[in-house]
Amino acid sequence: MPTTEPTQSPPQAGDARADDSRWRRVSYWFDSLAEPVLPRPPLQADLDLDVAIVGAGYTGLWTAYYLAGLDPGLRVAVVEKEVAGFGASGRNGGWCSAFFAMSDATLAEQVGLAGMHAMRRAMEHSVDEVGAVAAAEGIDCHYRKGGSISLARTSAQLAAARGEVEEARSLGVSQDDLRWCDQVEAFELVGATRVLGGVFTPHCAAIHPARLVRGLAEAVERRGVTIYEGSPVSGFSRAGPRGVNRLQTPGGRLRADVVIRATEGFTARLPGRRREVVPLYSLMVATEPLPEPTLETVGVNGGLTFTDGRHLIIYGQRTADGRLAFGGRGAPYHFASGIEETFDQVPAVHSALKATLVELFPSLAGVAFTHTWGGPLGVHRDWYPSVRFDRASGLGSAGGYVGDGVSTTNLAGRTLADLITGRDTPETHLCWVGHRSPPWESEPLRWLGLNAGLLAMQWGDRTEARTGRPSRLAASVDRLTGH
Ligand SMILES: Cc1cc2nc3c(=O)[nH]c(=O)nc-3n(C[C@H](O)[C@H](O)[C@H](O)COP(=O)(O)OP(=O)(O)OC[C@H]3O[C@@H](n4cnc5c(N)ncnc54)[C@H](O)[C@@H]3O)c2cc1C
Repeated sequence: MPTTEPTQSPPQAGDARADDSRWRRVSYWFDSLAEPVLPRPPLQADLDLDVAIVGAGYTGLWTAYYLAGLDPGLRVAVVEKEVAGFGASGRNGGWCSAFFAMSDATLAEQVGLAGMHAMRRAMEHSVDEVGAVAAAEGIDCHYRKGGSISLARTSAQLAAARGEVEEARSLGVSQDDLRWCDQVEAFELVGATRVLGGVFTPHCAAIHPARLVRGLAEAVERRGVTIYEGSPVSGFSRAGPRGVNRLQTPGGRLRADVVIRATEGFTARLPGRRREVVPLYSLMVATEPLPEPTLETVGVNGGLTFTDGRHLIIYGQRTADGRLAFGGRGAPYHFASGIEETFDQVPAVHSALKATLVELFPSLAGVAFTHTWGGPLGVHRDWYPSVRFDRASGLGSAGGYVGDGVSTTNLAGRTLADLITGRDTPETHLCWVGHRSPPWESEPLRWLGLNAGLLAMQWGDRTEARTGRPSRLAASVDRLTGH
């Protein structure tokens, strides 16, 4: 596991934190948790269950949370190879947004306007639902619903942003849900350089992601669900006349009527699943807490989150303790869907993120960056997330959220709970339920295609910044990825 500079003095022998230094290095968010990260006991015996959930990120935990709420009599357990929140859920940018991995236009084309609007409403509701559950369960995840702005900072981005607002109107998305901000208003919201305008949506909250996932794990336990940590699932089988599902972990075997796979970016490591979900790395940096005068020039108040219109996505928020947490793509895809802890640190990408942040906010020149981290998110071949449940086999899964999983996982968890308990709800009729994505190409085509796309985006951004003209190549990669 790569190092980050801790916010507190290094753990000493005998200090409770000495036990959790491995987890604190996962991200700034883990490092800033108020309580020690003490792993829960692993599975140490064979167990019969109604529902076994693999993975204690948001997807697995939301599923367990709603399932235990709908039917408290169910025997439900979550098995996690590390600790709850170890994956993307404890590392992300903390945008709890109504963004779905596919643009409205692409979704409307594929499933029609009614399906697109149903998904939009469900996503908007999910943003509020995360806040409502956090409040009800006493999870202090710094939930602040301040909306999100995508700045236009080049003439190419300006044209694209205006086009986005026009397209939204043509699809029936109201001014209240997405609107144009002129240069003055956009600059008031985010004091960045070269701001020409922006596209604003109110449907986004900034959160502290690790506080959410760790608090959710405790809420799930209060509902009677057991979470086994340090319990990697290494094998799955389905046998016997009644087709019993069995999961193998080092300490014991789970037998369950229903098995839910909630392993997102790590899925390729499971036997036989290498081509289902590709792990793409997103990387982040965090500054030290910024002095008040600097914060005044930066803006980004009240839980606002920000990005700009470049093709290679960037994203930022101001943390509750006055830092900027800022991330972006740019890390390479690793051959054969490789996942290694060393991939969380890519010095060239982290340096580029720091430089981009200072270019956005020159008043940050000279501030210290205290943390660098990253992690794998999950992508389906058609960039279309899905929730799937097969009643006959009892097998289900949710994922492929790309970089928009914080609130989408909540919707996935509610939907899986409905499907497992046989409820017919509006959520179970959304377009992503039962969607089947094609498998990714075999290597080396997968490696070539994904890294060529990355280069095309980088090249497109540079060309647009230099010439002000839209890059057709980068736009075509956007379209291929559902944007
Ligand atoms: C750096 C970064 C920034 C992001 N920023 C945002 C953002 O701002 N907004 C947003 O909406 N989305 C963002 N995302 C995406 C979002 O974080 C994810 O979509 C979401 O957290 C997925 O949750 P999950 O529970 O499905 O997966 P994960 O959180 O990855 O959880 C999967 C879990 O499964 C466990 N596991 C894997 N294999 C096994 C096994 N064999 N046995 C047992 N357990 C196993 C893992 O240890 C892990 O804990 C970001 C992602 C990253 C990496």
